[in-house]
Amino acid sequence: RSWAESAIPPAILECIENIGYKEPSPIQRQAIPIGLQNRDIIGIAETGSGKTAAFVIPMLTFILKLPPFTDDIRHLGPYALILAPTRELAQQIESETKKFATPLGYHCVSIVGGRAVEEQQFNLREGAEIIIATPGRLKDVLERHVLVLSQCRYVVMDEADRMVHLGFEVDLTFILDALPAETMQGEDLGEQMDVDGETLVKKGRTRVTTLFSATMPAAVERLARKYLKRPAVITI
Ligand code: AMP
Repeated sequence: RSWAESAIPPAILECIENIGYKEPSPIQRQAIPIGLQNRDIIGIAETGSGKTAAFVIPMLTFILKLPPFTDDIRHLGPYALILAPTRELAQQIESETKKFATPLGYHCVSIVGGRAVEEQQFNLREGAEIIIATPGRLKDVLERHVLVLSQCRYVVMDEADRMVHLGFEVDLTFILDALPAETMQGEDLGEQMDVDGETLVKKGRTRVTTLFSATMPAAVERLARKYLKRPAVITI
């Protein structure tokens, strides 16, 4: 099976070709077609399986349908948020995401511990469609009102079990509760369709939430139950 068989937009297929990924990995083969239908996903997968591209490709497909990030909407915050347990993983995700996002003209900023808040504040001022963050530092930045998440409609929790083991469940709940309510009315989501071919808005859905984890401890189950809607479960 090749890339061209799924409904990946031509602009992203071109990125994949330029990056040189000849064919999708097993998790990409499973997760991308479901992700492209804007369904919530629980993916049980390890690092090294190609899971970053598995969530980045549907995420960028979603962002491509949203209005361009002009000066009048930049200050409303990112369109998409990727949460990861550690600075190292966040930076790995950032570099993988940028392979696709940069040629498409999108900006990624990471908000992680261990780096000067001022530097990240500077990076945020420019505006970024995509933010990659560790939960502790992101909560801090949200509490300082340096960043808002008023138009964030795509959330990925990567290595959710590790985030929970590091004690981030409360921070994750804080962040997810800071997002626009799922039932927000009157928003123009363009042609975002879900799996049944109805618009997300018609179904009272304004967000796609995806969770990846190697294991499913109780705290991860709680997060999934609270923040994901009818998720597809993918195991590789
Ligand atoms: P990840 O599991 O997302 O950390 O990815 C592991 C590594 O596999 C990364 O270095 C990616 O650049 C690479 N990779 C991801 N998808 C593919 C693919 N379809 N073909 C070849 N390499 C890939």
